[in-house]
Amino acid sequence: SAKEKGRNQFHMFDPGLDECRRQRRNQLMELSRALEHGELELFFQPQVRVSDNALIGFEALIRWRHPERGLLLPHQFLPAVADSHLETPLGQWVLKEALQQLNLWRAAGESLGVSINISVQHLLDRNFVPHLEDYLHSHPDVDPGSITLEVLETAALKDLKRASEVLTRCQGLGLQVALDDFGTGFSSLTYLRTLPVDLIKIDQSFVLNMLDDASDRAIVESVIFLAQRFAHPVLAEGVETMEHASVLREMGCNLVQGFGIARPMPAADTLAWARQWRGQAQRQGAGRLSPSL
Ligand code: C2E
Ligand code: MG
Ligand code: MG
Ligand code: MG
Repeated sequence: SAKEKGRNQFHMFDPGLDECRRQRRNQLMELSRALEHGELELFFQPQVRVSDNALIGFEALIRWRHPERGLLLPHQFLPAVADSHLETPLGQWVLKEALQQLNLWRAAGESLGVSINISVQHLLDRNFVPHLEDYLHSHPDVDPGSITLEVLETAALKDLKRASEVLTRCQGLGLQVALDDFGTGFSSLTYLRTLPVDLIKIDQSFVLNMLDDASDRAIVESVIFLAQRFAHPVLAEGVETMEHASVLREMGCNLVQGFGIARPMPAADTLAWARQWRGQAQRQGAGRLSPSL
């Protein structure tokens, strides 16, 4: 085909491309083995309501405990997975694991929510909604509203209609939909208009420097204003200091997440953290910032 021919021509001028493909293939093979051998793990980062400091839940963030290279972050292995045959199986693993964690919290008497990052390929998989239906059916005591699906703005525009249909079905089941990294894509407003959304997450790249950078601050303020106009609650990521939190509160931001509250932590630490946070927040009184911020 012309496409093949084009590829071969490109190839002729760029032998490095071959090496690149080989590396990615190896990475995928290694990752597939890691998935089988249980080397992947979910970390959890708290999400806190600004008005009363209540811990509303945790975002699940994937890690790879590599036998030789140590704990790997998503940017070190997720790019290889994008658009590969592993994207959906990996997403299924994350979903299953995150919902299991929700069960554990419930069993411990904690009513916490879980936010799960969902790739578009996984979202559009035919088993995605049935899997959620099965889970909710076999766990009738779980509030579907405690599950949030975080979707990035990077969905190809041609998939927007299908993605939107699937997300509407998920909302029909009672789940929440969050628009992740809002403002970093090329068509944020189109996504906001087209996708069914319950929550907007302001990307940390705007939040991190907003105390020093007037443009970033203006963007954060505008996104909060926009979210309010759409009657969507808004969560700011990248809340690294107490000052971030208090400025965001003045701007009307509803929820915060960031290193200033806690770094993502292993699942085993979440219950103790939640209890400690609650103790602190109560001593501080509703509406006050916690001392650890
Ligand atoms: P995200 O969904 O926007 O997740 C937030 C990222 O910001 C996390 O990085 C978190 O550790 C980091 N972060 C949170 N608070 C702060 C802060 O105060 N300062 C700074 N500098 N960073 C902060 P992480 O865990 O490396 O994840 C990066 C991205 O990888 C995520 O961005 C998400 O898009 C993707 N990802 C992570 N886990 C999964 C997963 O299970 N499935 C999918 N499809 N994507 C995932
Ligand atoms: Mg996210
Ligand atoms: Mg984000
Ligand atoms: Mg991000």
